Amino acid sequence: MADIIQAVRGMNDLLPDQTGTWQAVESVIKTTLSEYAYKEIRFPLLEKTALFSRSIGGATDIVEKEMYTFADRNGDKLTLRPEGTAGCVRAGIQNGLFHNQTQRLWYMGPMFRHERPQKGRYRQFYQTGVECFGFDGPDIDCELIVLSARIWRKLGLDNVKLELNSLGSLESRTAYIKVLTAYLSDNADDLDEDSTRRLKSNPLRVLDSKNPDMQNIIAQAPELIDYLDSASREHFDQLQEMLASHNIDFLINPRLVRGLDYYSRTVFEWSTDQLGAQGAICAGGRFDGLVAQLGGKQVSAVGFAMGLERIIELVNIAGNNLPSGDIGIYLCLLGAEAKRAGMLLAEKLRDKSLSVLAHCGDNSLKSQLKQADKSGARFALILGEDEVSSGKIIIKPLREKKSQYSVEQTDLYSHLLPSFTA
Ligand code: ATP
Ligand code: MG
Repeated sequence: MADIIQAVRGMNDLLPDQTGTWQAVESVIKTTLSEYAYKEIRFPLLEKTALFSRSIGGATDIVEKEMYTFADRNGDKLTLRPEGTAGCVRAGIQNGLFHNQTQRLWYMGPMFRHERPQKGRYRQFYQTGVECFGFDGPDIDCELIVLSARIWRKLGLDNVKLELNSLGSLESRTAYIKVLTAYLSDNADDLDEDSTRRLKSNPLRVLDSKNPDMQNIIAQAPELIDYLDSASREHFDQLQEMLASHNIDFLINPRLVRGLDYYSRTVFEWSTDQLGAQGAICAGGRFDGLVAQLGGKQVSAVGFAMGLERIIELVNIAGNNLPSGDIGIYLCLLGAEAKRAGMLLAEKLRDKSLSVLAHCGDNSLKSQLKQADKSGARFALILGEDEVSSGKIIIKPLREKKSQYSVEQTDLYSHLLPSFTA
């Protein structure tokens, strides 16, 4: 026998018993985004490597060690997208979306990072990203946070908490980084390998370290918030007032810096303690500098990305029943005549948006009913030669203790409808 080829490590199949929940979660997210009048943008999974190295920044986990990069047959250096913001901005610049107009955009799809696979951390994973362009004020930052809170509410997730920080302007951050560098250099002996490297390349990211041994040094570091410029300070204060008026609880975390270089002012993260170590479910912030950094004009920008695997895991833990595209009806067909008539009848039910699985093959009624039960359908309909000639059909409830009964085919829909609209 030939060897079985396995999937690439860290890349998952989503099986039929999982995709119902995925579709339900995606649909909640999409509906919410359209309630806020956001529009979808789609861009390629593959981009030139330079796009990511130029936008995300060299001293980040992604560019340092996580990108799937290769040369194609022409020798062009390409990378599978590790995140969506760079591609979204590239598409916006290339297609003139930022000229004298504002944009509220979203995308959903797979991202690729060569990380160490573990629960909640995969090499292909799905994100929903939301990005807004051309808005300077804190009102849009607030809208994004309120919107994400609405998604958690609709998904029945109440164990999520919001952390906020402000990274200030480039100037104020530069001043802070000087102070931070001095502090870290004073403690150089206690820095781990990653942090020693980051101290030179991107000291702010030392604050992002997940190493428990580093937490003490980080906790005692000077705080960025004390170095904010007055305009950023005001932006941050206004955002907090707005969130309070929406009754959104938050915690200010002066050490929240985000892994990517292009952020400025507001940064935020939604997380939970129900998922173990990989507790961040949604992270975002302002990146007013990125459009210009990628060759566009200066355009304000703010956005977030949520990790769908972690959100779906939370939905599963919460045990919430989201509508998940279950089969409504299993149509049992006995004999050639019944098969022909039954396929037409099934079409009529589908015209009314019922989900009908019509049996294919020549199995006994017993075996068809067994499959009907296994399918999860709420009703079996039975059509045999007798029913075809009398114009009737048998309805057999599968999920309640009720005996089967026979109805006129013409009345079938009105018999079934109450069960599906209740
Ligand atoms: P971390 O510090 O945990 O590596 P990150 O800063 O790299 O996170 P972002 O780039 O901000 O994460 O991605 C936004 C969200 O996407 C995360 O909060 C998380 O929910 C999800 N995410 C990121 N990387 C992965 C991954 N490898 N597998 C599954 N989900 C992920
Ligand atoms: Mg990461």
